[in-house]
Amino acid sequence: MPFPQAFRRGSMKAAFLTGIRQLQILDTPEPELTTPEDVLLRIDTVGVCGSDVHYYTAGRIGSQVVKFPERVGHECAGTVVEVGSAATGLRVGQRVVVDPLIACGQCDQCHSGRRHTCRRQRFLGNPGEAPGGLAELLMMPAESCYPVPDHISQVQAALVEPLSIALYAQRLSSMRPGAEIAVLGSGPIGLCVLLACRAAGAGATYVTDLVDERLEVARRCGATWAGNPQTTDVVAAIAQLRPLGLDCVFECAGEQQTLDQAVEILKPGGQMLIVGIPELDRVSLGIHTLRRKEIQLVNVRRQNHCTAPAIEMISSGTVNVDPLVTHHFSIAQAKEAFDLVAGYRDGVVKAIIHVSGSHGQCSF
Ligand SMILES: [Zn+2]
Ligand SMILES: [Zn+2]
Repeated sequence: MPFPQAFRRGSMKAAFLTGIRQLQILDTPEPELTTPEDVLLRIDTVGVCGSDVHYYTAGRIGSQVVKFPERVGHECAGTVVEVGSAATGLRVGQRVVVDPLIACGQCDQCHSGRRHTCRRQRFLGNPGEAPGGLAELLMMPAESCYPVPDHISQVQAALVEPLSIALYAQRLSSMRPGAEIAVLGSGPIGLCVLLACRAAGAGATYVTDLVDERLEVARRCGATWAGNPQTTDVVAAIAQLRPLGLDCVFECAGEQQTLDQAVEILKPGGQMLIVGIPELDRVSLGIHTLRRKEIQLVNVRRQNHCTAPAIEMISSGTVNVDPLVTHHFSIAQAKEAFDLVAGYRDGVVKAIIHVSGSHGQCSF
């Protein structure tokens, strides 16, 4: 069903990375449905993610290099405005969360249920893959859109993607109820990991970050202990509290220092989950401690099959993501939002960009 023609203007506004630390809101053609399985969304909210900011400040993540100009953004919540003839389960006016990964559905990885490592995947806002979602309108396959219940706001809905990654990390871990865990790096993903682990019955939870305001949010999210490595020897402090070591450490900072700390604070047989995205291309690990302790290393690549359960966790009140949302911006202020997140300023955890309202009137 098409949305009112008056809504169409031919062009829309979208955020483009145009150089290192350069972001502009530019006019670009409105997307059209390309297959009957597609839907068109009016984007309401977009969360600013650490990976977006990597592209903004460094122009690359590892071998994924931005060719400017490139659209950006992937943590989107929107409202369906047009439904392809074969797009099942969605109707005009429905609010949805976007799973930003479009899988091919044909490769060995897709066939074995690993859509997240699909060999021909396209991820929103990834260089050369799919256009970023920080835009007034976005065309997506219907299967990538998950309806959200009425009592979840579009701001909460924008937190579903990071929460899904955290939930996936928790599910990949071997933690049992009562497990003692650490989360090193308490940005949005680290804090979501804390929430997911507490929901799964973690016992004591130890959280670190370089930004004191983030530790304060971690405490509000239920952390047993939170420390800043700039002012506290976090390895010694955790060792004093838990001399036998921890069961699982979720490395969510992507820093050499946090990888080293993880090896130190784990107990023999413990597990390190590598969730953070390093700016470095190579990291090192203290192989002898790693070996003697027989530490298990688990890499976490985004998420798989965790979007619907993440919606359910927010919907049921199992987790409260509200303390993570610290700042709000309009799409015109997107550069301000990116600069804030890039500079870790003003206690920012999750900055939300409100997009809808800027693209004419929409009446269903
Ligand atoms: Zn993200
Ligand atoms: Zn595939």
